[in-house]
Amino acid sequence: MSSISRAPSCCDDVPETGTLKVEDARQKILAEIEPITASEKLTLRNALGRVLAEDIISPISVPGHTNSAMDGYALAGISLPQGSDRIYNVIGKSLAGAPFNGSCDTGQCVRIMTGAVMPPGTDTVVMQEHVERLDPDSIRIDDRHHAGQNVRQAGEDIAAGGTVLHSSHTLTPADIGVLSSLGIGEVRVRRRPRVAFFSTGDELRSIGEPLAQGDVYDSNRYSLYGMLKRLSVELLDMGVVRDNAEDLRKAFSEAASMADVVITSGGVSVGEADYIKPILEETGEIHFWKIAMKPGRPLTHGRIGNSLFFGLPGNPVAVMVTFYQFVQPALEFLASSRIKQQLTMMASCSGNIRKRKGRYEFQRGILEQGANGILMVRKTGQQGSGVLMSMSLANCFILLDEDCEGVADGEMVRVQPFVTFV
Ligand code: AMP
Ligand code: MG
Repeated sequence: MSSISRAPSCCDDVPETGTLKVEDARQKILAEIEPITASEKLTLRNALGRVLAEDIISPISVPGHTNSAMDGYALAGISLPQGSDRIYNVIGKSLAGAPFNGSCDTGQCVRIMTGAVMPPGTDTVVMQEHVERLDPDSIRIDDRHHAGQNVRQAGEDIAAGGTVLHSSHTLTPADIGVLSSLGIGEVRVRRRPRVAFFSTGDELRSIGEPLAQGDVYDSNRYSLYGMLKRLSVELLDMGVVRDNAEDLRKAFSEAASMADVVITSGGVSVGEADYIKPILEETGEIHFWKIAMKPGRPLTHGRIGNSLFFGLPGNPVAVMVTFYQFVQPALEFLASSRIKQQLTMMASCSGNIRKRKGRYEFQRGILEQGANGILMVRKTGQQGSGVLMSMSLANCFILLDEDCEGVADGEMVRVQPFVTFV
């Protein structure tokens, strides 16, 4: 065996001792986090995607009145015919917003529209398609109906005084709809996490600058921006910081003074220009930096003052993989005190995937549903950690855990889709 010791890189094939498993790393990161408790009051539209800082108790019942679920005729269920037809007198109309002001006796009915209040004496609606209109004032119905049909009971959706939404719930489009149905126009939500991020590297150029030999455009700051933008966080884009200790020290302390979370990319390996780890050791606290995964192996996690720090690798795919697997759950927990379950599913693998035991691989896949409804997944081709097109073409991660030793064509494999409803 070689006596040359090897520092971790995102291209490593063989797991080294002292590396952390993906799930353990995630748990360690979450254990470090104290969720934000500060809050503010926001109007409903502005509260979309934000985390409730209070329980919401319903001030009213929804629906407020028992009403019709159909256009038709309201009548008393006990008056329904059995074994024959029956003729009813139409004594008035109840429209949504214009209820019938009277009561309805046996043998009578009220023309009623969807959402209109059920008149006193009625508990059943016969839909208009099931009625024979004899003349403007009378109808005939047969015996195929049952008492209570086509009626929405007061409070059946939400009961007054009940807890509708719990504190620390993230507000969805449905939730702001529910809140508006209760007449609630403002809610108390938690402050959003402030996230400062910058790229590091002497070779990085901004869009618009010419590229000298060996230069690359800074793409990590854009993919990070995109991933962060989808979360409910406040962004502080600090640009590119060059590979020198002085500039990085300054950037670290500036970022930490402004933000709850500091994210960098690049400079976390052990190259000559990789300053992130020593500077974090000097200005803050470092927790670990080796994870048994691919890509994304050299990840630095720690703290600068009160801020959480994530030093993501430089390779563009590794940035995205480590963000989704570690940073996003951390930000969600910081924002809400809740750990969001990431949905995964099984799909049939098209083509073979080679893999060695010992580390977790996040391959980029295209998940499709075949005509028979079965989910199928295939790799996006080149899986190098610098090949950002592999992410661009993908719509899921193919999850190959530590124990997996490759997948054969047609075998079922676990996938994690990128897009879910929010
Ligand atoms: P590093 O971890 O700094 O050694 O970077 C690893 C690889 O990622 C190198 O090829 C870098 O040029 C590339 N890289 C680092 N940062 C960025 C960035 N912000 N945008 C695009 N590529 C980057
Ligand atoms: Mg670098």
